[in-house]
Amino acid sequence: MAKLVVISGSSGVGKGTVIKEFLKKHPDFKLSISCTTRKKRDGEVHGENYFFLTPEEFNEAISKDDFLEWAEFSGNLYGTRKSFVEECLKNGDNLILEIDTKGALNVKKLIPQAALIFITPPSMEELESRLRGRHTETEEAIQKRLASIKSELENSKQFEYQVVNDEIDNAVRQLEKIINGIK
Ligand code: 5GP
Repeated sequence: MAKLVVISGSSGVGKGTVIKEFLKKHPDFKLSISCTTRKKRDGEVHGENYFFLTPEEFNEAISKDDFLEWAEFSGNLYGTRKSFVEECLKNGDNLILEIDTKGALNVKKLIPQAALIFITPPSMEELESRLRGRHTETEEAIQKRLASIKSELENSKQFEYQVVNDEIDNAVRQLEKIINGIK
């Protein structure tokens, strides 16, 4: 059966890098590209990192029931395209969703076979310094993201698996071990 893996982690934890490295080694996994109303960061590409939508476009997609799940995170809207996930599962493709913890718990309710993995930082100090080190957010946005960490950690207690991102290769190995073990 196709594997559906849902990965969450606090902003700045490096989950994007861990997932990218995993995908390089496992081309039999697809990554779902979400829709968002957040502004594009430097270097991000529409259709590659996200589908960047206006709030109007996003709301229209909600009203057309286009999302498997959607959530507000740090003042922006993010959603997973239902058609893409359904198509992958129908074709037997393994799939990774990189979404916030609220979205992950909603996916689990809809698709119980989904495996929820939470990526944690080695420490909170490390997380804050990584978040600032990216230089992609304003101070206000950083404060909002730091505030969301508490609820992300609370929600993560309901996740089946945790990966500590202390060092990238090690985190990828932990992820591989978990994913290999999923039935
Ligand atoms: P960022 O703005 O840093 O790219 O993402 C912010 C948060 O939104 C991250 O926790 C990311 O995992 C989450 N996110 C990205 N796409 C989705 C989605 O489709 N649904 C939900 N619920 N969260 C998402």
